[in-house]
Amino acid sequence: MSSKKILILSGDGIGPEITIEALKVLKLIEKKSGNKFELIEGLMGGIAIDKTGDPLPDSTIKQLKEVDAVLLSAIGGPKWENLPQAQKPERGLLRLRKELDAFANLRPAKVFSCLADSSTLKREVIEGVDLLVVRELTSGIYFGTPRGFDSQAKEKTCFNTALYTESEVRRIIKCACEQAMIRSKRLCSVDKANVLEVSQFWRDIAISVATNDFPEIELSHLYVDNAAMQLIRNPKQFDVLVSSNLFGDILSDEASMLTGSIGLLPSASLGDGSKPGLYEPVHGSAPDIAGQNKANPIAMILSLAMMLEISFQMKSEAKLIEKSIEQVLEQGYRTGDIAKPGEKILTTTEMGDVICKTLE
Ligand code: NAD
Repeated sequence: MSSKKILILSGDGIGPEITIEALKVLKLIEKKSGNKFELIEGLMGGIAIDKTGDPLPDSTIKQLKEVDAVLLSAIGGPKWENLPQAQKPERGLLRLRKELDAFANLRPAKVFSCLADSSTLKREVIEGVDLLVVRELTSGIYFGTPRGFDSQAKEKTCFNTALYTESEVRRIIKCACEQAMIRSKRLCSVDKANVLEVSQFWRDIAISVATNDFPEIELSHLYVDNAAMQLIRNPKQFDVLVSSNLFGDILSDEASMLTGSIGLLPSASLGDGSKPGLYEPVHGSAPDIAGQNKANPIAMILSLAMMLEISFQMKSEAKLIEKSIEQVLEQGYRTGDIAKPGEKILTTTEMGDVICKTLE
């Protein structure tokens, strides 16, 4: 039995609605397992701008130091869209990841068999897909310097720098290897080593880490163009994929679309373990359905399951949540985003309730 402290950032749009459902599930897990969860509520995103003028106020940064994990729903919306870049809710999210040194973004893409027809790909291609994209999150071309415009050049010129240090690559490859070890021990590293020095550097380090520290892992390599193609052609060949910030951004979005709805996809952003992990759905604040009790809470509840498994080592509790969700979907319960025409549509609250009932 253990006691854990969680910072809850319920954010904007559908955020508060799906947070309520995740917390109902957490309460049940607490009751069933005997573990204790202490919840602290914090401000983040548009709501934080409204209340404090800052999307990630100091009070929230202070709270980060007191907790074991952070559960964030979604932030942003039209109300804050026209603010200057530096004041937008999304800037708060980048700062939050930096505060937590969250260099590894884990995005599982699992196709529920009963929803295989919701995907744009054929059932036989995607049925059984269960893969994990590990994306480097705090370095690479998105952060590399120098960057910007070259005012000395003969014509208008702009540039960015794809920069990685050895320790940055080592830690993300190690993280991907650790994930592969608890899955099928297969890891595919994606790069563009035929063209980019930084990719050859990445590949050499991947080989060194896997060979020396994880000899049981079967490591393969793909060029990113081929990986993008293979993800659509035969996604079942993959288990864990690891890639740089830019390539991982694109591949993780591509992989997520295999499953049919963005409302089903959780994620984790992790550092070296010395700071709390951040867990959040892949989707945004869905302003078009906010406040209408229409959102699918499953991505949020699965993010909670990831938190239990990764940050708290509560594997059986996490599996219980996943199994309940699978069962609920197999029984035909649907929110609007995953319903076929004519199917009964549940509200956010009703979906949370049937998941809790199944869990119980
Ligand atoms: P979005 O993910 O919010 O919505 C895209 C579409 O998916 C919408 O039609 C929406 O209704 C639907 N959708 C999303 N989540 C759903 C759910 N749980 N259940 C049912 N349907 C769902 O993306 P967007 O519309 O591009 O962005 C809206 C706002 O969210 C913007 O301000 C954007 O910056 C922000 N955003 C935040 C995050 C985050 O908090 N991590 C991520 C992406 C976008």
